[in-house]
Amino acid sequence: MTVSDVKNRADNTNRKSSAKTPGGWFKFKTDLVWPNVFGFAIWHLISLYFLITFPYLQYKGLLLWAVVVSEFQLLSITAGVHRLWCHRSYKAKTPLRIFLAICYISTGMNRISHWVREHRIHHKHVDTDADPHNSLRGLFFSHIGWQMMKKHPDVLTKGAKINYDDMSADPVVAFFDRHFGILKPLLGFILPVVIPVVFFGQELKPAIITQWFMRYPYVVNTMFSINSFAHAFGYRSYDKTIRPTENGFLSFITTGEGWHNYHHAFPWDYKAAELGSFFPNRCTWWIRLWSKLGLAYDLKEAPEHSIKRIVERKGDGTHPIWIPKGDPSAQVEEVIEEHPYMYMES
Ligand SMILES: [Zn+2]
Ligand SMILES: [Zn+2]
Repeated sequence: MTVSDVKNRADNTNRKSSAKTPGGWFKFKTDLVWPNVFGFAIWHLISLYFLITFPYLQYKGLLLWAVVVSEFQLLSITAGVHRLWCHRSYKAKTPLRIFLAICYISTGMNRISHWVREHRIHHKHVDTDADPHNSLRGLFFSHIGWQMMKKHPDVLTKGAKINYDDMSADPVVAFFDRHFGILKPLLGFILPVVIPVVFFGQELKPAIITQWFMRYPYVVNTMFSINSFAHAFGYRSYDKTIRPTENGFLSFITTGEGWHNYHHAFPWDYKAAELGSFFPNRCTWWIRLWSKLGLAYDLKEAPEHSIKRIVERKGDGTHPIWIPKGDPSAQVEEVIEEHPYMYMES
């Protein structure tokens, strides 16, 4: 895929989107899911109000609790649903899978298998109409707008062909999926409030505010920023023909997901980056620690010669070691054929 292909995709998207003409104030090119529109809007407005008015210095303990909870939740997304379950970039023993599943369900996001299915569709059809959060439809759409609209027909038809049978085959995923209806409110909204109140003597109302209206939208928006900002701002050191970027700040706040250009080039690498430096990629260090403890194993990494080859063929010239050479577009098909899977078959 070349830069002009990306442009053509954008044109196609616009053509398809404008096929249905708006016919009034509440008719849009894409039908909106109104409960989600109001739900997200009200939740964010309340959050904004508390962000401005909350007496932070009075409740330092609750803020520390919110930071600790959000760190483990972000870790469970990066190390759990993303690198472990979706891309199968490493394997994990049952206790670790249970720990990651508990932390992930507490984020208040979707079922594990749903997250995995949508992310596999994203990788397989990145930045096309079949991508659930196609970044060619704009920053707002790719960030949160896609959650407020009906899915594009291509997402449904092409997404139906995505295999995620391995999710129901994992008893941990099957259990948390089956009991999702009760586990999500319990782990995501009740326990994070009850624990500091019962065990650390904190007040109930500020505990609810910090957990429901600060920590929850923070974690969700932080992860959404990979779909939006990490497909718009940053370097394309490995493959300039795709939109995902390298962004150190996003990596820091997500525990290691901002090296997104590399990740789309080598989705099955457990580091989701070429390097695994601690602060910008804490998730990688956690996986290495679990590996040392015998909880994680079979960690997969892209070999250096493959990384060098893709940088030389398709990089944008920002890689610190290797320099692109020749006409990158001439090699595109060959490189895509080399990595047809979003995860390593094993
Ligand atoms: Zn992406
Ligand atoms: Zn991924």
